[in-house]
Amino acid sequence: MSSHPSSPTVPGADSADSLPLPRARTLFARALRLRCPVCGGGPIRLGWVSLVPSCPVCGLHLDRGEPGYWIGSWTINLFVTEGVFAAVFAGALLLAWPALSWTALAVLCIALAILTPVLVFPYTKLLFLALDLAFRPPEPRDLESPPERGLVAKRR
Ligand SMILES: [Zn+2]
Repeated sequence: MSSHPSSPTVPGADSADSLPLPRARTLFARALRLRCPVCGGGPIRLGWVSLVPSCPVCGLHLDRGEPGYWIGSWTINLFVTEGVFAAVFAGALLLAWPALSWTALAVLCIALAILTPVLVFPYTKLLFLALDLAFRPPEPRDLESPPERGLVAKRR
């Protein structure tokens, strides 16, 4: 992935309101800090599973205005959960073989299969948004000028 030389702007805004897209590494780092991948602003979470509709700093619509947008984040969540499950299962086999307690391993894997998707949910949601932004930079329709804009200091 590469950075995008274009700088999408808020429709009808002057150059001071431009929204430059950071490099992919910055997009992902901000997503892992649970901040807006584009501007690093926030707060953008309403709870552990919910996001605000738009970034309060840059105005990016976090679901990019598309129904079913978050299905991609669920896919990433599934991959992470299965990766954790596979790593723990294989690690337990390698470390404890042949004196392996299958019951303990089953309980551990079931607990991980339940807890991992919940624990990583907000991260996978914002990582998917960062991934999508890296391939599909914001378009004018992804932005808005919320009334609180200007009241929130940019944290860049
Ligand atoms: Zn933002």
